[in-house]
Amino acid sequence: MPQQVPILRLNEDVLNAILEILLGTGGLAELSRTSRQVRAACMPILFRECYRRMYVCLPEPDWFLPYPLWSHVQSLVIRDECYDKIDASRSRFTDNCLLCGALAGPLFEQWLPRMSRLRSVTLYQNPRNDEHSHGISWPALCAVLSIPTIRALNIDRLHVCPALRPSDELHVAAVAPLTSFQYILDKAALSSVYVRPASVQPNYTAEMIALSTALGALHESLEVLSLPTSSVPINVFSMHTWPCLRRLVLRGQPCESLVSSLLSGISHLPSLKSLVLKFSAETRTRPGILWRGEDVTSFPCPALEELVLTYPDPSDQIFDHLPPTLIALSLCCWRHLYHEFLSPYRFWIPSDGPLFALLLSSSEMCCVLRRSQTPMLVRLTLEYRADDGDEELLHHIAQAYPRLTYLKLIRYRPHGVDSVPVERITRALSLLAYLSELKVHLDLPDMPLPGLYLGRGSGGGFYSSSAIEKFSDTVEQTAGVFARELSASVKYVSILAPTASQSIWARFRIVNGKAFYEENS
Ligand SMILES: [Zn+2]
Repeated sequence: MPQQVPILRLNEDVLNAILEILLGTGGLAELSRTSRQVRAACMPILFRECYRRMYVCLPEPDWFLPYPLWSHVQSLVIRDECYDKIDASRSRFTDNCLLCGALAGPLFEQWLPRMSRLRSVTLYQNPRNDEHSHGISWPALCAVLSIPTIRALNIDRLHVCPALRPSDELHVAAVAPLTSFQYILDKAALSSVYVRPASVQPNYTAEMIALSTALGALHESLEVLSLPTSSVPINVFSMHTWPCLRRLVLRGQPCESLVSSLLSGISHLPSLKSLVLKFSAETRTRPGILWRGEDVTSFPCPALEELVLTYPDPSDQIFDHLPPTLIALSLCCWRHLYHEFLSPYRFWIPSDGPLFALLLSSSEMCCVLRRSQTPMLVRLTLEYRADDGDEELLHHIAQAYPRLTYLKLIRYRPHGVDSVPVERITRALSLLAYLSELKVHLDLPDMPLPGLYLGRGSGGGFYSSSAIEKFSDTVEQTAGVFARELSASVKYVSILAPTASQSIWARFRIVNGKAFYEENS
């Protein structure tokens, strides 16, 4: 009998805890190669998450993944790299460039159901210019939904049934009790970046019909649902009961019919706790008013705890009817407008960009908040342009939301003002006795802007190294002011600070009134 490797004599929980640490820090793969027994212990952790690119419809299942790994896979991410979307006429796998031939057939119908621990499937693509309409077919969607073990399906930048074939029967024969269906398509546009329109504009009719049928089959088990605004079948909510649905996320540019019917649509979701409406705006137009008066007399989801609403409109009466159960509120732009400052492709002074015309002023934001009776808030995120009402807004935040533990303020300077009253802002917020984390973008005047012609070099990306160094000092001093003046409850302060790396939030840990910069946060 082979002698047991010492590490395997550990209690199973302890061993697994060590293997988990090695997975995070690196070294698990090396350990797994030390002996056959050790490898057997490492396999469930090493291969519980697998990633695969698909170029064609594979002929044999073990070309997809070697058989010994199958029983360990819990989360599978598949990236569509098929050639069908470029030229379907040459494809053996599909007859339509809109319908993926690689993510189809036995992959979903026969192979994935044999992965006995499979819980989560993610399908995605990085579309290039002419591939925006490409997606999975109706039979492929039905096959994924029927894998008995899966509970989460994520579809990212791939369409769901962009076309239906005459042979497609809109009926779901078997469905897994999925708890999460997240379909993400649209990215918010930046006003300063010209996006070349796709040569083929997607038609969402087939997609809406397919989604309506699929969601109708999932209505009893779904807890989290995320959809792009372009293909929300809003009527599906009134056609079924949704006993478990607690989070609904809609992203993209909404059409008028969606905005006008949204509140009556979600009135059929009694358990909804979180409503995230990441609507993008047109150049100078807000997405629209949600509260239309005729259909609703009180807020339709009385137990709502989180509301994310982009480009809030002060004339929207929804703010007079928010439920007092709210504990998290976000009134911002999507994306945050500071991204305009970080883009090297801007053609104008960032804060003169057209989307900035849609920002609420401090006075308007204060007015909106005063109308909302939400004293239980513990998380608040606001994006606005300061005006004469700035101090009143900050005092209102401190007085109206005494339970706040998280505050994110994205505050732009008034036009023509080249200073930021950091001390005054800090003093107003110092009344928040339970605040734990403060995240701020204060539009500090010396924040470096990326230069078009600097190129990548020692300064880090498009930035000048001297400007970054100078701004680091400013950020540190600002964090120091917050550390000194805010309530002793504050543990972290983060300040937007462009750096050479992707991380643009400089995070400081606050200890005894001093701010300590945290690397790689
Ligand atoms: Zn494809």
